[in-house]
Amino acid sequence: MSKNGEPAVIIMSGGLDSVTLLHVLINTYDPVHILTFLYGQKHNKEIQSAKYFVRKLGLNDHMIIDLNNLQTVFGDSTLTSSKRIPHLDSIENRTSKILKQTVVPFRNAIFLSIAVAYASARKIKYIFYGAHKSDTATYPDCRPEFIESFEASSKLGVENNELQVIGPFVDKTKSDIVKLGTAYGVDFSKTWSCYEGKEIHCGVCPSCYERKNAFRKARIKDDTRYST
Ligand SMILES: [Zn+2]
Repeated sequence: MSKNGEPAVIIMSGGLDSVTLLHVLINTYDPVHILTFLYGQKHNKEIQSAKYFVRKLGLNDHMIIDLNNLQTVFGDSTLTSSKRIPHLDSIENRTSKILKQTVVPFRNAIFLSIAVAYASARKIKYIFYGAHKSDTATYPDCRPEFIESFEASSKLGVENNELQVIGPFVDKTKSDIVKLGTAYGVDFSKTWSCYEGKEIHCGVCPSCYERKNAFRKARIKDDTRYST
């Protein structure tokens, strides 16, 4: 890909998917404006990963937006409340019932709304986020029909028909993203996926299981340090 010299906005958490997306985008868009959100997540450690990659890639436009007050809005989500993060003993236990406990309602829609405001204020047309195929069953605001409809609403909301909301990984699995990130030289050991947010990845939360599984399926060595 060659640079098209156009600016873009990315929502980047510091996780494996959005960090890979950032590496892809900087080859085409310039500058890439990065938005990272604090929303009361237990694993706010992911912000350190986001900061690490912004620094490493020599980027400047990074805004960390503090929505920690929304923690109570999100109710019983195990990611933001005192409820325990579910633990698995195998990837087969990664059932929708368990995964639903990790849903933060309308999270991406809230982040995207802020990204639309940010982009509109700066006359930026392109807004990216790292929703992927493995998310679509559990997280409604990662589905292609949501993205399409959100883009249509955003165009109306800021009266800009050129605005595009893009989830380029929506047809890719997490293992596809691991392969892509490897091709772009992403240092995955510096990304953060674990919902627990402890010193190292717990290895047993749904996100750790998905991460392990993605590397295994991609047949790429996983340098992540896991507790279990
Ligand atoms: Zn974990």
